[in-house]
Amino acid sequence: MTYDQNNIFAKILREEIPCNKVYEDMYALAFHDISPQAKLHVLVIPKGEYIDFADFIGKADAETVQGFFGAVAHVADELGASSDGYRILSNKGHNGGQEVPHFHIHLFAGEKLGRMIG
Ligand code: AMP
Repeated sequence: MTYDQNNIFAKILREEIPCNKVYEDMYALAFHDISPQAKLHVLVIPKGEYIDFADFIGKADAETVQGFFGAVAHVADELGASSDGYRILSNKGHNGGQEVPHFHIHLFAGEKLGRMIG
């Protein structure tokens, strides 16, 4: 499977469509999910072209992986989610229910979250 340069998150990275940005650095862009599934629902995406978690871990170098996941933790801290807790999740492929083929982490917080799989 090749990376689809026209997926919606690639367009957001190229600033062809807007997003509700909460954080950006050289490794990651974080923005509010357009259809939030919790009081706080933010997506964190890497800047490079990675289809899913496996693609990211398989292709990205150690600095990029550390920088990306460091950004995820930073966003959780900055949004005040760390003290009461949060959930991070990444869907991969058909069974995982992945809709957008650009690797992303969902960050859920702001309320007591339900069961892990509803
Ligand atoms: P997934 O099913 O893991 O691929 O998640 C894709 C997520 O992207 C869903 O939670 C969507 O609500 C979200 N989404 C789709 N388009 C946009 C957009 N333009 N801006 C923000 N979030 C989006």
